[in-house]
Amino acid sequence: MPTKSIAEQRRRNATALLEEPKLDALLVSSPHNVRYLTGFTGSSGAVLLYRDGHAVLYTDPRYAVQSHQQVDCQVKIAKGPLVRSMQRDIRRCVPARVGFEQDHLTVGQLEALKKDLPMRAELVPVTGIVEGLRMVKDAGEIALIRASVNTNSHALEKALKRLKPGIAEAEFAAEIDYQSRKLGAEAPAFDTIVAAGERAALPHAQPGAAKILPGMLLIDMGAFQDGYASDMTRMVYLGSAPPKYRRAYRAVLEAQSAAIDTVKAGAKTSAVDKAARVVLQGYALDREFVHSTGHGLGLEIHEAPRLGRKDKTKLEAGMAITIEPGIYMEGWGGIRIEDTVLVTQNGCEILTPTSKELREI
Ligand code: ZN
Ligand code: ZN
Repeated sequence: MPTKSIAEQRRRNATALLEEPKLDALLVSSPHNVRYLTGFTGSSGAVLLYRDGHAVLYTDPRYAVQSHQQVDCQVKIAKGPLVRSMQRDIRRCVPARVGFEQDHLTVGQLEALKKDLPMRAELVPVTGIVEGLRMVKDAGEIALIRASVNTNSHALEKALKRLKPGIAEAEFAAEIDYQSRKLGAEAPAFDTIVAAGERAALPHAQPGAAKILPGMLLIDMGAFQDGYASDMTRMVYLGSAPPKYRRAYRAVLEAQSAAIDTVKAGAKTSAVDKAARVVLQGYALDREFVHSTGHGLGLEIHEAPRLGRKDKTKLEAGMAITIEPGIYMEGWGGIRIEDTVLVTQNGCEILTPTSKELREI
């Protein structure tokens, strides 16, 4: 949770972002954006109206105590639907252009807002305003991401001690989640991926009843700790890895290292992606790399920026991103290696402490 003064600073930074779309007010309904701007950690049940450098959080009676403890802006406890009580305040500030987060408002909420809206008030769909601010992390957020990454790596080592051939993928995924919670995570950042053998060819495999047998095993895991995400993929080989696996592993690791070497403030996200692809091309494996090289993370597991072929965002110091090239071959399996890294002025810091040497157990 940000300290109260940090939340206030973030709200001040947000003021400037209303100028270009010429908004008089912004309705913030993404729970992550509400949390970023206020410190309120309720997963639902709050919306924020932001106007004239002044924010009002609307929430319901279940969150009365929590909101007063966490939030330093004005709080209104609504008796009915939140947008209805917000609307009364919007009506007082006419004429107005009121932005709303188009990706985070239901059609029902929008209709409720439109009802009885004064003639001259205008509702303007916007996207990515607060998310743009969230891309560059402040020192407190970096500390939380670092802690989340460390928990995640620690949980993997604990879980691997219990890995034996014959256990089901789902059981091992549950072991990872259990260890992660015991170490301080509040939840997995996404459904833990454990994919054995040929199933590793599915980049987003769902762990099931399939048994983990001698052969390759792909583990993609992340934690939410104090609200902040971590994300890591590692491979282990049960038994002695054959030459084809060794070569493919080396190719993906070289691609990942090349991408990491490209990361620094000012670099284009597409250039980082390209660095990984060029290496895989040298191994004639580029066509097996079917997703983008990485993504930002923070309060959400997938945030801006994206690191794909067509992404032109320039990296900035303080961005937390993943670097995760992978190759997938039907009938054989797949290899992905993923770290969470922090962009710095002259390069980056790899936050993930887990070794990337080819691992056989
Ligand atoms: Zn990822
Ligand atoms: Zn991942």
